[in-house]
Amino acid sequence: MNIPEIFAKDVFNSAVMEKRLPKDVYRALRETIDEGKSLDISTANVIAAAMRDWAVENGATHYTHWFQPMTGITAEKHDSFIAPTDDAHVIMEFSGKKLIKGEADASSFPSGGLRATFEARGYTAWDPTSYAFIKNHTLCIPTAFCSYGGDALDKRTPLLRSMETLNKAALRVLKLLGSDAKRVIPYVGAEQEYFLIDREMYSKRKDLIYTARSLYGAKPPKTQELDDHYFGTIKMRVQAYMEDLDEQLWRLGVPAKTKHNEVAPAQHELAPVFSIANIATDHNQLTMEIMKRTARRHKFKCLLSEKPFDYVNGSGKHINWSLSTNTGVNLLNPGKTPAENAQFLIFLTAVIKAVYLHQDLLRLSVASAGNDHRLGGSEAPPAIISIFLGDELTAILDAIVKGEHYHESGRQYMKIGVDIIPDFVKDTTDRNRTSPFAFTGNKFEFRSPGSKLSVAGPTTFINTIVADVLDEFADKLEGAQDINEAITQLIRDTVKESSAIIFNGDGYSKEWAEEAKKRGLVDLPTTPDALPHFADKKNVELFERHGVYTETEIHSRVEILLDEYIKTIRIEANTMLDMANKDIFPAVTECIRDYAQTAQLAASCNAACDYQTETVKKLTDLMSQMYAAYKELKTYADELTAYTDYEKTACFCRDKVLPAMKALRTPADELESLVGSKYWPYPTYGEMLFYV
Ligand code: ADP
Ligand code: MG
Repeated sequence: MNIPEIFAKDVFNSAVMEKRLPKDVYRALRETIDEGKSLDISTANVIAAAMRDWAVENGATHYTHWFQPMTGITAEKHDSFIAPTDDAHVIMEFSGKKLIKGEADASSFPSGGLRATFEARGYTAWDPTSYAFIKNHTLCIPTAFCSYGGDALDKRTPLLRSMETLNKAALRVLKLLGSDAKRVIPYVGAEQEYFLIDREMYSKRKDLIYTARSLYGAKPPKTQELDDHYFGTIKMRVQAYMEDLDEQLWRLGVPAKTKHNEVAPAQHELAPVFSIANIATDHNQLTMEIMKRTARRHKFKCLLSEKPFDYVNGSGKHINWSLSTNTGVNLLNPGKTPAENAQFLIFLTAVIKAVYLHQDLLRLSVASAGNDHRLGGSEAPPAIISIFLGDELTAILDAIVKGEHYHESGRQYMKIGVDIIPDFVKDTTDRNRTSPFAFTGNKFEFRSPGSKLSVAGPTTFINTIVADVLDEFADKLEGAQDINEAITQLIRDTVKESSAIIFNGDGYSKEWAEEAKKRGLVDLPTTPDALPHFADKKNVELFERHGVYTETEIHSRVEILLDEYIKTIRIEANTMLDMANKDIFPAVTECIRDYAQTAQLAASCNAACDYQTETVKKLTDLMSQMYAAYKELKTYADELTAYTDYEKTACFCRDKVLPAMKALRTPADELESLVGSKYWPYPTYGEMLFYV
């Protein structure tokens, strides 16, 4: 395989555009991409024709507006290019109008009350900053998805808005520092964890089929205690899958770079090279989709859910985030000159303050039923948000606050904008993996997102909260007499007021939870605790100030996300009931019958039958426990058929339904470990995790 040759072969990217578009059209498009200028229809027509020709030459028969509704996945409706002619032939047709705007019946997508049911129409609008690509013989055009009233019904629109506000705020600050940057861009690298299990075993598990999470399952003899899977040799069958996956991603221009086995057995990770936030979002969506599709071909099932199996780690999606100028200067890179250092400290402290002020937003940006099983379980960061800076950088900031000299590496440091920060160890191996938000040398790594979450939500939030602090910084610095003095003061004040958010210790420990409480940090352990805060006054004002979400859009999202939480748990509860009733009870009954018959037979000829009699007793006891739990869960699940108060119902799910599910699972798992293999209706954890 010649990678440079196949890379981005299926993408209508700037190289292709430059080659295929007339010079003035390409220039106009570049202005749209780089500076956000709007495109006129005649330019769009030329681009559409070039796009169509390229797509048809490369095997496309259809086109689609590819968008990201609030389901968190992508949606597409395909139209073929054909247009019948008078002489019973067809031509391949595609106009600028169709490129720029499409209509989609929005009625089946969650809208959280944004779109009255009588107004079913929504429209999709081309995002020229994301490249079109060919997938399954279809030209996919990345688009935003809005209601006719102009409300964003998707995840892309707020993300683009947040990038714009961040750009403006960062440029204000840079201007004060004498920079002539034209644009500031957030970059994202999304590490994606996933499980691969054998498809045949998967197809025998209703829980995995309906919920992508095992709802029953006894602890196998071995889990991850030997740490022999992490970075271990990749099995041949998995290797073949990964190679296939890489090739497909490369063709789509996704710069898949790193792949390795993860901590849990059957768990793996893929990380691309980082790119501009909205492109990284598209790429991650494509990666997830292609991971699933490729798994089918290799007779695997790819599980992207956050906690498919108890007793082993769940899967996350680490969002690496940084800010760069159009000239490629990473603003989170300490740099080598006093000016670069001052710039670094300003942007670093802006992020620190933003995270400190908006812990609630970061927490709720990753809230979902699935991720609740992961956060705080000593396998993923706790639900309490904090920042890891490393000891050395923390000491530097401390010294700035105290106005002291910092004597490490034989250098002195103090005057911002005049002196140089001593080199601190970047990317050290003891990087704290228990921290939700870690500074890793020249970027931040947000580790709380669950594996199936869209990158868009958390990135939109990070962009906006940082923009808000940068605006505040610019307000303070504009008009300062001595800019270096003003910057020193600003950094000092900012670190002082936000220092409670900095924590370099073990985020998994109980002591940290107590310490965090003392520091007054926000603790929102579950989704129903976290989500409603989206609509808090502080947050509505913040997002409206930056034009990222309107109040109505926020309310709609709270409703959609709570509804999704409730429905996820309802489906899980109903699946558990179905499995108990249809499969587990009959299987155990059969086992009891066999053992009881044997016991009877043995007794009739005076033979010992301790095993059978004792097991029958244990099995029947556990069955009774299970049945009692079954009835309780059934009552709760039935209550979830209709609801109007989302917050109350979500709390009911957390407080009643989830504990009832656990009460049903516990005796069932014990039964699994007692009942003979031939009776148990499902593949076991051991088989699913180790028998690939
Ligand atoms: P680790 O698992 O040690 O965190 P990985 O190599 O798996 O490291 O992932 C690091 C991710 O961070 C990659 O996707 C990488 O491209 C991305 N990354 C590196 N530098 C930056 C940056 N400046 N901005 C955003 N993302 C970055
Ligand atoms: Mg990482």
